Parts: sequence; C-alpha cells; structure tokens
Amino acid sequence: MNLSLCTDIGDDYKSNSQRVRVITEHWIASNMFCPRCGNERLTHFANNRPVADFFCDNCNNQYELKSQHGLKLGRIADGAYSTMVKRIRSADNPDFFFMSYSKKQWVVNNLFFVPKHFFTPSIIDKRPPLAMTAQRAGWIGCFINLTSIPSAGKIPIIENGQLHPQKEIFNNIVRAEHLRVDDVNKRSWLLDVLACVDKISGNEITLDEIYTFENYLAKLHPANHNVKAKIRQQLQMLRDKGIIEFTARGHYRKL
Ligand SMILES: [Zn+2]
Repeated sequence: MNLSLCTDIGDDYKSNSQRVRVITEHWIASNMFCPRCGNERLTHFANNRPVADFFCDNCNNQYELKSQHGLKLGRIADGAYSTMVKRIRSADNPDFFFMSYSKKQWVVNNLFFVPKHFFTPSIIDKRPPLAMTAQRAGWIGCFINLTSIPSAGKIPIIENGQLHPQKEIFNNIVRAEHLRVDDVNKRSWLLDVLACVDKISGNEITLDEIYTFENYLAKLHPANHNVKAKIRQQLQMLRDKGIIEFTARGHYRKL
C-alpha cells in the first residue's frame, strides 16, 4: 500500500473540494482492499450515484469515503443534518472509510473503517443554521463526530502514517460484528453506553463510574425516564456480547 496521494489526477478541477474528492477516491480505488472479504481492490461507482462511493465486486458490500486534511480524525463536516439522520434510521447506510491526509506532503495520515451498524443519531452533531443572508438561509448541516463512536467501531487501517497488519484489521472487524444490532433505537443505547465505558480509563470499571454519564445519556435519550436501569440492561448485553465481564457486584472488566 502506497500512502502517497496522486495529486495530478485533480489538476482539471477548479473547486478545491472536488479536487480533494477526486484525489482521495483515486487513492482508495488504487490501494484499498475490501475489509469485509479481503478482495484485493474496490470498484468506484459511476458518478452521481447517491448511495455510496465504492463497492466490492466479490461480496457486493458498499463503502463511502469521508476525508479531511490534518493529523487527526475528530469531527467531519457532512451534508444536511436531517438527511443524515433519516439515512441512519432507514438503515440505508454503507460502511464508511474516514481519511485524514496531509495537504503539505499529500500523504494519508489516518484511515479508519467504521461498519455501518456503528452509525446512530448520537454521533451526528447539528451545525448552526446558515445565516439569513446566505444563499441557502436556514439550511442545517451536520458533523459526523467520530469521538462519539466506541473504539470497537473505529477500526484503524492506517494510524499516524503506519499501516496495521491485515490480520489484525480482519480480527477487529469480526469483533465489531458482535456488536451488530439492526434496530437503530436498541443499537443507539448499546453503543452510547459502550462509548461511555470507553471514556473511563483503565480496564476495571464500576457501575458508579458509568452512572456519572447518566445526565449525558438522558440528553441523548429524552424519552427514557429510567436511565440507570437502562444502563444496567446495556451492560448485561455488552457482557453477553463478550465486550465486558462482570467481576463482582457493580464491578466490570473490559475484555
Ligand atoms: Zn468484499
């Protein structure tokens, strides 16, 4: 895998965003294997296809690429907030690649794979509406907030310029499959609680530590009026899925 981006391919484009899109998509098509089945290359969809950017001609899985310049991947600007949330709720989402690249050296710094079932409304941040003087006054865009996705769902392929071994990538994807829940509401609770578990440092955690996120979770799920009970239920599910184990009453260990 060559981490350099071929910039010549973008020479014909005047708009910077279009140029970056062409350059980064060209990199995926020339370098990236299918993380789902190991097929050597992915195929670019014909232009103007709204569903996804790439597909695998072996397993038919679809992928979308989001990229931003810089060293880290945090929040990535995306299109209309309502469209994104609708897409997540309709389960009409492809798997995602998130790339960060250097604009100076034109190399890939980071590339993360996020399976589709890690998308929940909680990871989509609303942007302020565009000013009344703007051409699309009142339009509300969004950010995809990668920091709200549990680490099990952000699988590094390239991290800080270093390529991870393929075997490790495939193992991580198999592990992430254990967290697949198709119903978006159930999935939101499970992944939101897991994201809180992730935020507690160390492998040994207590129920009281997780309860400190009660207000945060209540804001994400305003319809629920017994957040603590819901947290305990989700911890049981995480145990059943092999993500944590119970060590004593109110004590857990991350696996
Ligand atoms: Zn495939």
